[in-house]
Amino acid sequence: MSPRDALPMIAETEIIEAMKNDEFVFHYQPKVSLVTGKVSGAEALIRWIKPEGSVVMPDAFIPVAEQSSLIKDITRHMFPKLVNDLMVLTDVEKSPLSFNASARDFEDDAFARMMLESLETLQIPPDSLQVELTETAALEAGDRIRNNILPLRQVGLGLAMDDFGTGYSSLDTLSKWPFTIIKLDQGIIGRMLDSDKCSTIVESSIRMAHELGISIVAEGVENNGQYQHLLGSGCTKVQGFWISKAIPLDRYISFVKEDIRWSGMPAGLISMAIVDHVQWRKQLVSELVRAVSFPKNSPHRKYLNIPPLSCKECRLGLWYYGVGQMFKDRQSFLDMEKPHCEFHDIGILLVDLVRDGAGIEDLTPHLRTLSEHSMEILGKLQALEIEGLMDMNASQHAWISHPLHPTNQA
Ligand code: C2E
Ligand code: MG
Ligand code: MG
Repeated sequence: MSPRDALPMIAETEIIEAMKNDEFVFHYQPKVSLVTGKVSGAEALIRWIKPEGSVVMPDAFIPVAEQSSLIKDITRHMFPKLVNDLMVLTDVEKSPLSFNASARDFEDDAFARMMLESLETLQIPPDSLQVELTETAALEAGDRIRNNILPLRQVGLGLAMDDFGTGYSSLDTLSKWPFTIIKLDQGIIGRMLDSDKCSTIVESSIRMAHELGISIVAEGVENNGQYQHLLGSGCTKVQGFWISKAIPLDRYISFVKEDIRWSGMPAGLISMAIVDHVQWRKQLVSELVRAVSFPKNSPHRKYLNIPPLSCKECRLGLWYYGVGQMFKDRQSFLDMEKPHCEFHDIGILLVDLVRDGAGIEDLTPHLRTLSEHSMEILGKLQALEIEGLMDMNASQHAWISHPLHPTNQA
């Protein structure tokens, strides 16, 4: 018998009655940024608080409601509460809140319109909200549903693929929908430390999200081992019982105000930067070598498929002058700026030579210098990565003894 079979059956009429009596609230589960080590937004999770005080979890009634259009009524009933909570939170936290929606909520455009109207009326920036849709829901939804969600994306609302990896066609769905966030399913996070396969799947998913320019959140993080592993894998956000269960709004506000700093250096981000740099060099060099095989005046030499040439716009540069600045007190980080800029100058020179009709023999000495600079950059990045890994091992996690840690809560 599965846990779901064991749940008592809840009738639709009970849910309707509970809505009338205003028995539904949102609790908030904090997410932590692995870049800053601080709370960064939360997920709103519905809770049914019965008059005598008992709490009914969503698995007991959301699936019932999803079998009919009742789910739409619940979502519409809850949205004003979400917006209210969001307004209470604006003075405390700037990171977005996410909430769960069902594909049925977008069967017509009424809900998306209502959302946009209320955000506009209340002057709430659309990027302060994210819609979470399970990949199974997205997979089963047709074009009509996607078209009703698109206007939300167009104004800047985030769209998260929830429970990534549980559907039977995750990659296909990801390629067709305008997701801005992937939420790695808690099942795979739970198995990650015991299975090399799961660990590889997690790491590859993080890498894929990075290359697609999509944020990634790992769900269901329950211990420090998983937290540290994700830190070393380049994951940027985590959520789970290790940080906190979903808590009422007032407790969430206190949680944010505590301004807790989770320890650990995100060494995984450095491995991402290493791969980014290697890929940039490979893409440029293979394109140049392809192009020089064409005659001097060939248009194939003019229209090259090359990555951004500026040292501030390549992926490594975006990282270096953005998130990477967190390492600016480290000498190996500072030492890589000069060779990186020179590396790009050589790249620009090589492109000019190819466009001007140079042959492979003209490129060879510059390709050699390009490679030497690349080795120097990689050396600095690797030194930084080793420092990061040593820091991660050394960091004693004080969180477990913090009064707000879930195990220390009543
Ligand atoms: P979800 O959106 O994937 O939410 C994550 C669920 O995992 C939550 O369960 C959360 O409490 C639980 N969780 C978080 N961290 C951990 C962890 O470290 N370990 C374990 N074992 N569990 C963890 P919850 O609140 O019972 O919600 C279950 C599902 O119900 C949600 O899954 C979501 O699909 C749905 N749901 C919740 N609220 C709403 C809502 O307002 N509307 C709709 N349509 N669905 C909702
Ligand atoms: Mg969710
Ligand atoms: Mg989920």
